Amino acid sequence: MKIMMDIQLTLPAMLQHTEKYFPKKEIISRTQKEIRTFTYGEFVSRTRSLASILDRLGVARGDKVGTIAWNHHRHLEAYLAIPSIGAVLHTINLRLSKEHLIHIINHAEDKVLLIDVDLLPLIEQIKDDINTVEAFIVMTDDDTLPESALDPIYSYEELLAGGDETFPFRDDILENDPAGLCYTSATTGKPKGVIYSHRGLYLHSMALSLADTAGLSEQDIAMPVVPMFHVNAWGIPFAATWLGASQVLPGPMPTPQILAELIEDNKVTITAGVPTIWLGLLKELEQGNYNLNSLRAVLCGGSAAPEGMIRAFEETHGIPFIHAYGMTETTPVVTVAKLKSYQANLSYEEKLKLRATQGRVVPGVEVKIVNDNGEVKADGQDMGELLIRGPWIADSYYKDDRSESSFVDGWLHTGDVVTIDEEGYVKIVDRTKDLIKSGGEWISSVDLENALMAHPDVFEAAVVAIPDPKWQERPVACVVLNDGVQLSKEEMLEYLEPQFAKWWLPDEVLFMDEIPKTSVGKFLKRALREQVEEQLAL
Ligand code: ADP
Repeated sequence: MKIMMDIQLTLPAMLQHTEKYFPKKEIISRTQKEIRTFTYGEFVSRTRSLASILDRLGVARGDKVGTIAWNHHRHLEAYLAIPSIGAVLHTINLRLSKEHLIHIINHAEDKVLLIDVDLLPLIEQIKDDINTVEAFIVMTDDDTLPESALDPIYSYEELLAGGDETFPFRDDILENDPAGLCYTSATTGKPKGVIYSHRGLYLHSMALSLADTAGLSEQDIAMPVVPMFHVNAWGIPFAATWLGASQVLPGPMPTPQILAELIEDNKVTITAGVPTIWLGLLKELEQGNYNLNSLRAVLCGGSAAPEGMIRAFEETHGIPFIHAYGMTETTPVVTVAKLKSYQANLSYEEKLKLRATQGRVVPGVEVKIVNDNGEVKADGQDMGELLIRGPWIADSYYKDDRSESSFVDGWLHTGDVVTIDEEGYVKIVDRTKDLIKSGGEWISSVDLENALMAHPDVFEAAVVAIPDPKWQERPVACVVLNDGVQLSKEEMLEYLEPQFAKWWLPDEVLFMDEIPKTSVGKFLKRALREQVEEQLAL
């Protein structure tokens, strides 16, 4: 006898909820040419049309459909149409190298590609190397398509005009069927593919809606700045659509000015992105005159949010900031840095310390932190690797023999070295490969970076290891100063001195114009290390 109804947790079920209850709510979409508003009613009709077109093009259950696109309404339509016919949405990172693009499109065996018109050259240059794609669909505001060597090539809007707005979604999709595919942005080696199930995305959407996490709700006007090609814009498009939250999609190459204007004009309540985006916005807020007081939360993750940045948002601009942690492999939300009720009496400084950690594990997910001696002590000091398991955590990489080292005995081994305190706050010390091993001890590059970035004249800073004959490795600080400021190595070190043990202090401070970044805006330590070695003639 069944105890409770065995209803499958699927994306089409979520979309049909939206269709029924929120047809009047709005999506504001910035495209190449314009900013347009759609109702969810129009959006679902267009999504059904797209589903009918893909079906006509021969996309079958389990087939992969790739998207190479910015955050806009057409991409959102693809987000829901593809999984709702049982196919798999493969979001492609448009900043990948040519080699990686070829690799992931072939590895995924994409059958159809949906491409933003301004990104066509990316695919044209690799067209002879991708061998599974049977159709290219171009997303553009223009009535005509540009000349292109891709074949066969279709206009998204033309196809949609001939589509079926009442096309039925599949009703036989199972919750453990694949719905999405995303490759990690690979700082080393080839990108690794992670498949998201309908169930994982459904439960993750619920997790984002918990008051103790992001508390996403119908009341929100949500603007994901994190790209839709990066871990599904952290799942916000799925959750926001389901809940009937208004969405603002910031479109191609949004500058800090565009973001500030979109927030102000549309009264955005919650937005999400990596620290580099928010550093850019802070700079813009210093220059321009904006009213962003509609914001109830700026979600920040992907790399460590410097304490100084959280403080600047909150103290200078009155904008609440939430730090969170996750990975491509974890859909992504794992921890969120919110305080417990009985921590309300702490001083602002004490609160800030906790809120600058990666936070506490969200309900539904489990974490375990282990080192050679077993599980670490929950004392905020003992360091170990973070292991994760839960219903929205990947269990393997897609067709990849590197799965074995990352997924062991039912736990994802993250490669992140962390501490956990007695209240459960997890703090990232470093990625295993970025830790600085000096004289048999570990130095956290992240701690040094946070301290440097709290300096009022520092725009951004990254710390890397250089080889050292005596100590094995020593830290070097790379610092980008604010425009027009001059500081010396000695002044930087003097500033750090009271905050760290002497042996933690960087041996060198190099001033730079820019820190190299990965395709999703994280410090690219490998390239930085090379730059440093060159500069120091090592
Ligand atoms: P990649 O692994 O290719 O960089 P991901 O976006 O999946 O791509 O990155 C996940 C990693 O990003 C985590 O393992 C962690 O090292 C880092 N990360 C994510 N969120 C944070 C955060 N809030 N603070 C520090 N590091 C973070």
